[in-house]
This record gives sequence, C-alpha cells and structure tokens, in this order.
Amino acid sequence: MKRVYVAANLQDAYLLAHQLGEAGIACHIFNENMQGGLGELPFTHVWPELWIVDERDERRALEMIRAFERPGAEGPPWTCPACMEENPCNFAVCWRCGHEIPPR
Ligand SMILES: [Zn+2]
Repeated sequence: MKRVYVAANLQDAYLLAHQLGEAGIACHIFNENMQGGLGELPFTHVWPELWIVDERDERRALEMIRAFERPGAEGPPWTCPACMEENPCNFAVCWRCGHEIPPR
C-alpha cells in the first residue's frame, strides 16, 4: 500500500479512484468518512487520501494524477504506437505501457 494522492475533496478522490480503477490500478480511499469531523480535527486530517494497493502501479498512478490535476489541457487523444492504447492528450507517456508520446 502506498499513498499517491491527498485530495482536496471527496469528489476528486472518488473521481480519481474511479479513473485508476478503470486503468486496472487497485486503490483505496482513506478518510472518506471523516468529512463530518471538520471543525473538530485539524483540517489536513480530514482530506481524503488515495492509496494504491500495489506499489508497482505508482508510476502509472502518478501519471494519471498529474493529468487529472491539469484538466485545462485539451485535444484529441493519442494512440500509443507500442500497445495501441488510447491516451488522453495531456498524458506524456502511455498509461498502459509507459511508452512516450509520439511526436505530433
Ligand atoms: Zn502503450
């Protein structure tokens, strides 16, 4: 288990957990039931945390998180020449195999 992300809110945590799950990365959200404690606990203690089960998924997870945090990047998805997987335009490397984005 490894923590890869501290979300600013539960919606972000769920959205990201869903995206990681779709990519085959097993993950868990911690602190998801802590939102009601705001005001009683130090603020940072109630931020939902995203943990991946397998640390070998860390690089892919972090890549997806980086893309998730830059929603401004828009454009057509690109297809990985190595594994033919489709990637969002703002991914610098293929989420599936780590192949770098081909020159466009
Ligand atoms: Zn690939």
